[in-house]
Amino acid sequence: MNQVSDEEMQEHYDNFFEDVFVECEDKYGEIEEMNVCDNLGDHLVGNVYIKFRREEDAEKAVTDLNNRWFGGRPIYAELSPVTDFREACCRQYEVGECTRSGFCNFMHLKPISRELRRYLYSRRRGGAIGGGRRSRSNTPPPKQRRRSRSRSRDKRRRDRSRDKRR
Ligand SMILES: [Zn+2]
Repeated sequence: MNQVSDEEMQEHYDNFFEDVFVECEDKYGEIEEMNVCDNLGDHLVGNVYIKFRREEDAEKAVTDLNNRWFGGRPIYAELSPVTDFREACCRQYEVGECTRSGFCNFMHLKPISRELRRYLYSRRRGGAIGGGRRSRSNTPPPKQRRRSRSRSRDKRRRDRSRDKRR
């Protein structure tokens, strides 16, 4: 029964996000935007949405990822029909007021920390800021470099969104 602090949760999530983002961008091509659902409902749990700059890169990613496993589970990837995230997202969640929490049928896109966002979305521009290495000057160095990949529920990646139910 260990209590995990909010910071640790965020750190764990940031690490996961960074791993996926960096690997996919290095392997398949430039990423414009990546989003991860925090929902628990069947059709959204573990969903990761990656928008590549080039369509061919997305196709490459789908083909390759379908042969991969993550955290002991197969990855299901497909081209997503979602083009407008605004429409699919839960407004209440964004202002911290969704009472349906994980079982809401609208997307709850979990935000990453501001430093990570700045780092990930600037690295492809030749690391103009700070030589491309993320600086975390105001946070203590991460306790464990090894990231555990197998214990949490949100490891299943499916790049899809079925019809949203209400
Ligand atoms: Zn909601």
